[in-house]
This record gives sequence, structure tokens and C-alpha cells, in this order.
Amino acid sequence: MSTPGAGFRAEYACSEGCGFRTSLWEVIYRCPRCGSLLEVSHDLEALRAVPAAEWKRRFESRFGQSRLPHASGVWGKHEWVCPELPAGDIVSLGEGRVPLKPLPRMAKELGLGSLELKECGVSPTGSFKDWGMTVLVSAVKHLRARGVPLRAVACASTGDTSAALSAYCAAAGIPSVVFLPKDKVSLAQLVQPIANGARVLSLDTDFDGCMKLVQQVTEDRGLYLANSMNSLRIEGQKVVAIELCQDLGWEPPDWVVIPGGNLGNASALGKGFQMLHAMGLISRLPRLAVAQAERANPLVRSFRGGFSELEPMKAERTLASAIQIGNPVSFRRAVRMLRAFDGVVEDATESELANAAARADLEGTFTCPHTGVALAAVEKLVARKVIAPGASVAVVSTAHGLKFADFKVGYHRATLADVQSQRANPPLELPAELGAVREALASLG
Ligand SMILES: *Cc1c(COP(=O)(O)O)cnc(C)c1O
Ligand SMILES: [Zn+2]
Repeated sequence: MSTPGAGFRAEYACSEGCGFRTSLWEVIYRCPRCGSLLEVSHDLEALRAVPAAEWKRRFESRFGQSRLPHASGVWGKHEWVCPELPAGDIVSLGEGRVPLKPLPRMAKELGLGSLELKECGVSPTGSFKDWGMTVLVSAVKHLRARGVPLRAVACASTGDTSAALSAYCAAAGIPSVVFLPKDKVSLAQLVQPIANGARVLSLDTDFDGCMKLVQQVTEDRGLYLANSMNSLRIEGQKVVAIELCQDLGWEPPDWVVIPGGNLGNASALGKGFQMLHAMGLISRLPRLAVAQAERANPLVRSFRGGFSELEPMKAERTLASAIQIGNPVSFRRAVRMLRAFDGVVEDATESELANAAARADLEGTFTCPHTGVALAAVEKLVARKVIAPGASVAVVSTAHGLKFADFKVGYHRATLADVQSQRANPPLELPAELGAVREALASLG
């Protein structure tokens, strides 16, 4: 199998710019000099030696392939993701290459030029976490092939990271361990790692409590840490930005809106756009909006104080359970991105997020509550004229709604706490009689 990344290089660098650099094949998550997160730093000079038009041609031709791994939306960008990873060590389940779904009616009602959903949850395990996990687990496979003694890979999760980790590890035959907050993930999310054979630890704490424990446990260097503080995941997730621009004929939208919890994904998206810009594939940057649930909104609070220092908060229970995070690990890099993209931050109540999700569903999608948070943020930013009339807006849809069936059922039964269901569409219970059925259909169309 050929490795298109041959000839290009990437390594870890300190994300706060203290100058520390090391090989991607080190087991390391933070800068040993200053404690900051690391980032993957690409040799942009070498990449720039290939003209922008040639990159576009290569990326587009791989969209037409059907064989993994390079038919994967992530590995179709192999050179930009993890160039030195041999193609034979790639662990892919066919992630990426997801639809950009227009919501023309909602766009028209809001007075937008366009509103589109990048459906990142149309993916092997049903969330965008697959985009990053393919890179991390491939790197672990490669590390083990190089003789690094890694027994297993571990993560703390609000549900989707653990599903992705366990599926990719199962595909690679590598043991995985997931730390879940008891009773705070959906049934579908809980059953995925169970089915994929992970060691599932259900802990009587919240996500932040799980995160703390997994960091302590992975100080044992035989256990590899798979949370998004691990910047290998960011390299896969940044491809969302690249694929979005590719979908739009290499013209970014005016705004990109994304739900944020730990804030790794918002940082990844920014990194993708910056790389596209640096490489000359796009000529301007979009503006960025990060959306949080009002009950878990530390970034919103900081933003209102002019990006004041993070004050970790106790995240309250929200329907947007995957972003119920009070102490986001990637806070600093997200703030850096928001500054670079003239970004804004908005939050949504339980009612707002649920109604926004239901509104989009009426155009044929099936949105998760987190995507509902982002859509509610669009509604509010349009109302406040932060997003101008006529703007083109892309929303990153982070998971498939099928993982959150209880949320949907509760919404349409109008039984969700703190939600006024404005678009409830409960089934009509009827006797099995023609007259009753005819009557029920009389008002259709
Ligand atoms: C993980 C996740 C998020 C938040 O991503 P962060 O990188 O933690 O900000 C949003 N939506 C869904 C569905 C997720 O699984
Ligand atoms: Zn440093």
C-alpha cells in the first residue's frame, strides 16, 4: 500500500510556543517544559511545494475512490493529517466524506443566504469523534509496531469518545478502557463500547471526575490516553473544515457554528481553516461561533468578560449531555482560535436547543441535542444581527440523532423537563377503523 505522506513531516510542538518540539512517536500529552497542551506542527514549507491546485486535484480524486483507507474522508488528506504514518498501519472504518445538508426553509425564514449542516455524525459510530479517533488509534497501532509497550488505550467520555475509541480499538485488536459518568450517557452510547468489547467503567461522578481519574491512571505509560488533550485527534477533526470547504468549491462560508464542550473540536476546526488558508486553498477565513448549553457555559462566561480567565464551573445536567463540561481542557486553544477568527460565543437554554433541533428535523435531518445548541445559537445570533442578513452559515452537526432517541421521544411527547415543545408531533392513537383513519388524514397537505 502506498503512503502518499512520504516526503512530508510533522512533529509535536508546544501549543503555547515555548519552543519544545518532539517526535509524534513519543508517548506524551503535555509540554514537559511549561505544562501546556501540545499540537501537531506540519512542515508547511514542504507541503507548499505542491501547488494549491494540485492539492485540490488530489483531494478530489480520492473522494472518488472506494477502497479504504484513502477512500476515508480523513485519510484522503493523509499528507495533511499524519504524513509519516505508514498506510499499512491506518485503522479506518470509513469515517468522513459526510453530507453537507442544506436547510433551505430555515435559511429563508431566518433571512440567511444559506444554512447548511455538515453532518459529521453520519459516521461509523455516529459522531464526529470518529474523525479524530482514526488518527489516534492508527498512531497507537504504529507505536506498538515500533515496539512501544502500550497495553491498552483509555479515555474519559460523555459517551461519544468512548464509542469511537472502542470501535477503532476493536478493529485494530487493541484493548480499550472507557471511563463513563454513571447515568449521564444515553443507552445507545453506553451499549456501543460494551458491544465492541471495551472494559467499561461506569463511575459515580461526572465527566470532569472521570477525566481526572483517567489522567492519573494514564501516568502508567503502558496505558495510552485518548482524550482530546491528545492532539493527534485534533489532526483528524480538523479535516471537517477542509472537507466543508471542498464541498463548497473551496469557498468558505461566512460563518461556521459549532457546539463546544471540552473545546477540542472548535480548536480543530480553526486549525483546519488556518491550514487551508496558509496553503492557499482558500483566500479568506470564515467567522467562528462556538455554542454552549446555558447549563455548562464556562466559555460563554469568559467571553462576556472579554475572554477572562477560565473559571471552572459545575456543569449542570443538560439534554446536550456530550457538552456537559465545566472545566474544558482545550479552553486556551479555543480562545486563541476565536480571537484569530473574530469569533463569538453564544449559549442556549434547554427549550431553545430542543426546539431548534426539532425545527431542523422538519427538513429531513435528525439532529442531536448538541447540534440543537448550535442551531439555537444561529437563531439568536441572527436575531441580534451578529450574523448579518444574507450570510452563508454552516453548522457542524456533531452526532447522529439516533444516539439520542430518548431526547426525541421526550420532545414529541412534551415530557422533557424545562422544555416547551413547540413542534411536538406525537403519534395519533386511533381505533383501527376506516372512519377514524380518514378523519385523521383529512387535514393533510
Ligand atoms: C464531544 C462532542 C461535542 C463537543 O466537542 P468538544 O471537542 O468536547 O468541544 C459536541 N457534540 C457531540 C455530539 C460530541 O460528542
Ligand atoms: Zn511549552
